[in-house]
Amino acid sequence: MIEPISQLRSATRRAKSDVANKLVSMFLHELSRKVAEDRALRVESEEYALLVRQAFGSKCPYCLCDLSEFQCVVEHLDGMNRYRAGLHIPGNVLVACRRCNSEKRRDDSLKTLSLAGSGWASFLSHSGERCTGPCQTCAYWRGVWPDDATRALRLTENRDRIRSFRSQFPESERVMASLSSALPDLLAKLYSDCQSFAEREIGVLLERFGDKGVAAALSPNV
Ligand SMILES: [Zn+2]
Ligand SMILES: [Zn+2]
Repeated sequence: MIEPISQLRSATRRAKSDVANKLVSMFLHELSRKVAEDRALRVESEEYALLVRQAFGSKCPYCLCDLSEFQCVVEHLDGMNRYRAGLHIPGNVLVACRRCNSEKRRDDSLKTLSLAGSGWASFLSHSGERCTGPCQTCAYWRGVWPDDATRALRLTENRDRIRSFRSQFPESERVMASLSSALPDLLAKLYSDCQSFAEREIGVLLERFGDKGVAAALSPNV
């Protein structure tokens, strides 16, 4: 459990990484557009929606809740961040409940995954048996399926279902596989360049605005 007041301290640090994360996601979206340009199947097509519906019905692919009853969001199996380098292309996009989408972020934001090779498979591997020490994701799945055997079975079934869904898009798998060697280094550079740029520009502006500007703003006579 995160202590609420400690969030005050982490907020400033987070603002800077939010900018860099946003840039990485914008780059991955642009790259996805390029990859999708000459492809027949598009994420926004009715045909793709049908394939998603055939694979998952109207259920969340992770917790199986009925999406018509819960808030749902567009979900990228391989997250569109610097570590997972996912793309907005068929086979990687579906709809999940907002709760799973946010719980999955913990695995997606790990540089190195220990439970599986991808963020989505890792998220579905917290059966409560493999993590040492307290784990928020294991606790999440324990809340969804309290019975150990049922939980292990559901998580395995959901991983298999997602794997078979993805196998319907061999072209996407091929593109992702060929990009996977180059993208992480590129994205790491983009991320750190963006942070240095933000820090430098803020520094320059603050210097230019300077003590005078701050003093004027604080002055009671304004
Ligand atoms: Zn869910
Ligand atoms: Zn765990």
